[in-house]
Amino acid sequence: MKELEILLNSKQLLGFTATFVFIFGLLFGSFLNVCIYRIPIGKSIVFPPSSCTKCNHQIRWYENIPVFSWIFLGGKCSGCGEKISLIYPVIELLNANLYLFVFLKYGFSWHIFCAFYFVSALVVTGVIDYKTQYVYSKVILPVILLGLLWSWFEPSMGFQNSLLGIGLGAGVLLFVILVFYIVTRKIGMGLGDVYILAAIGAFVGPMKVPLVLLIASLLGILGFFLGKVVFKKKRIAENVTAEDLHTKNEKDLENAIYFGPFLAFAGILVFLLPNEILNKIIFLG
Ligand SMILES: [Zn+2]
Repeated sequence: MKELEILLNSKQLLGFTATFVFIFGLLFGSFLNVCIYRIPIGKSIVFPPSSCTKCNHQIRWYENIPVFSWIFLGGKCSGCGEKISLIYPVIELLNANLYLFVFLKYGFSWHIFCAFYFVSALVVTGVIDYKTQYVYSKVILPVILLGLLWSWFEPSMGFQNSLLGIGLGAGVLLFVILVFYIVTRKIGMGLGDVYILAAIGAFVGPMKVPLVLLIASLLGILGFFLGKVVFKKKRIAENVTAEDLHTKNEKDLENAIYFGPFLAFAGILVFLLPNEILNKIIFLG
């Protein structure tokens, strides 16, 4: 096993291993699409096989090849011609590139699959949170355990660091929730965000948790105001006033504060940025 690991990391096989990782990322990215679509509606992610959401046309194996099938089908269902969202190939390519970056930074090892799960779970959690404002603990909580497993075998991290990262990640947000509750008597943030930062902490360690929080907060504030502007424009274009937004969902959308998706994004960024750049940022901060 160890010999194979060394071989797969050798210069001669670098291209081969990178290609393998990339294709694996594409295939797993295809599965992420299934998760993103099915988890919020409470459907099983393993059964039945994928079918068109409009005409129920069963997706054949050659219509299910990541990215290529989408291009080959012209972004349309072969049964009814319904448009297939560009999100599908984008998620597949995103996941493949993330795996490639994980490999390039940490090298190939058997525990790398824990890190693959980590970045994929953050993508799924971030997208679902953005779409539904809901964090699924069954997706994100396993990341904490996998982080401990990963750090045990990962010399650049270490088990103790991972434990401290989990503690700090969860602790900081629980503290924020507590203070917010004491001041306003309202719960300002869901436990979902606590899970996400704890999971990120398991993989980046305590030193980088503050950086993740800082990036996520800055993006969150930016996103909040940008979202308000976009929604207001859309409302004006559709001739709808703020008072016309009756359903809770519509109001929620315009006033939503997205933190989970930005946490997920910042976590992936900090996990994958080269250490030289990270050290510079932490040192400056
Ligand atoms: Zn169809």
